[in-house]
Amino acid sequence: MTILVIAEHHHGALHPNTLNTVTAAAKIAEHSGGELHMLVAGGDTATVAAAAQGVAGVAKVWRAEHAALADQLAENLAALITALAPDYRHILAPASTFGKNVLPRAAAALDVMQISDAIEVVSDDTFVRPIYAGNAFQTVRSSDAVKLITVRTTAFAAAATDGGAAEVAETAFATPHAGVRFVSRQVTESERPDLTTAKIVVSGGRGVGSKENFAIIEALAEKLGAAVGASRAAVDAGFAPNDYQVGQTGKVVAPDLYVAVGISGAIQHQAGMKDSKTIVAINTDDEAPIYQIADYGLVMDLFKAVPEMTDKL
Ligand code: FAD
Repeated sequence: MTILVIAEHHHGALHPNTLNTVTAAAKIAEHSGGELHMLVAGGDTATVAAAAQGVAGVAKVWRAEHAALADQLAENLAALITALAPDYRHILAPASTFGKNVLPRAAAALDVMQISDAIEVVSDDTFVRPIYAGNAFQTVRSSDAVKLITVRTTAFAAAATDGGAAEVAETAFATPHAGVRFVSRQVTESERPDLTTAKIVVSGGRGVGSKENFAIIEALAEKLGAAVGASRAAVDAGFAPNDYQVGQTGKVVAPDLYVAVGISGAIQHQAGMKDSKTIVAINTDDEAPIYQIADYGLVMDLFKAVPEMTDKL
């Protein structure tokens, strides 16, 4: 009945997503019993494995070290997961770009139906997940021998990082995929907090009007120590980079405070932010759908409201 969590890690540190995924795994263990293991795969895994060792509830950390795993190529990670799968009943990864890239490949190779975006563990075989951009919830029961599950991390609290004393063991990886090789990576460098884990997010929409105008969103975010997000319309228009996009086809966030500026609040945008604890909307149109979910609304021209707010802060 053992459960495996695939660790997402960057620059030698466990990504916070992994800790939320451990909590989801622990909830499955409450029903199924059994140990919770974590897989740390990469090119230099010592620091991450040491951090994983301390995560509350984790009994064993598998370290898989190989040059072909260094760049987290999904094909290679999926092959490793597939090889480990016979020993597990559940395999979980965060429903992040990382998890969404890796886990479906392993599910296909194992010929099982992945359960995507789990937000609730009902029992060891039954899970709840949002569908139709979060407008309905589906309860899914799986009879697959091994269940591969991506976890919507905003729905689970983070596991403690100082409660564990897991054993660390090595697992071999010897079969890099011949058809893939790492070419290059383009990374947006930012001093700001990560969008998916930030406590405050300030997002701009089409109403912001241009890439240059986006500076007022950035300035407010700077004052608040917030991450910057954007609607798809703003991203498509080139006002903001792709990885700022919040929503159904972007990132799912649930910060303590979400400030939506010049965003109408289409359901596809709401799908990525409506679980935020407090939502503030700034929009000239008092009938904009964002006001249906906003806790505070400011019906005002953003070009007046945002700089004034930034000044006052
Ligand atoms: P608009 O809907 O054009 O809204 C702009 C708002 O700005 C308006 O409400 C207007 O009143 C306000 N405004 C204008 N000027 C000012 C001003 N000076 N001061 C204050 N307010 C002002 N969208 C996402 O965001 N994320 C997704 O992941 C996503 N995925 C999608 C997936 C699919 C399959 C589809 C079909 C659509 C998806 N969309 C997504 C697009 C979504 O349907 C909307 O088109 C988009 O969210 C609209 O972005 P917006 O609110 O910035 O623009």
